[in-house]
Amino acid sequence: MAEKDCIFCKIANGEIPSATIYENSDFRVILDVAPANRGHALIIPREHFKDIFDIDALTAGKLFSLATEVARAMKSVLHCDGMNIVQNNGIVAGQTVFHFHLHLIPRYENDNVNIGWQPGDSTPGELQELAKEIRKKI
Ligand code: AMP
Ligand code: ZN
Repeated sequence: MAEKDCIFCKIANGEIPSATIYENSDFRVILDVAPANRGHALIIPREHFKDIFDIDALTAGKLFSLATEVARAMKSVLHCDGMNIVQNNGIVAGQTVFHFHLHLIPRYENDNVNIGWQPGDSTPGELQELAKEIRKKI
């Protein structure tokens, strides 16, 4: 179901024009209007899911499967040297459009695009304990 006032519902369903790379009955793939780099693309489900906590596994699986095809097509046209796949969930994680979408960000040598974090610290015991807690919920 489309969500009222959701810009990506409108884009995905063609009510707002976009630079569309590909579309099928489940998804629209567009070029980001404020690209981090040349060719920055977004895969948007037609159905409204807020984020990773909301989307169903089947749709997410189809979406990532499509991402492999789109990534290869982009690489052949853009001749990028690499690609970041980014997907933000929640304000604290940098999400600004609250309709699930996957970023495909082509990378070029010395492009100075900043995606990343500082490596932190851990102990083996802490990691094992945390892994056990999460494993129980899957
Ligand atoms: P996020 O911060 O992960 O929610 O990403 C939202 C992305 O949507 C940003 O990279 C925006 O540049 C992009 N965006 C917002 N509005 C539009 C639009 N009308 N057409 C294309 N991309 C958009
Ligand atoms: Zn939406």
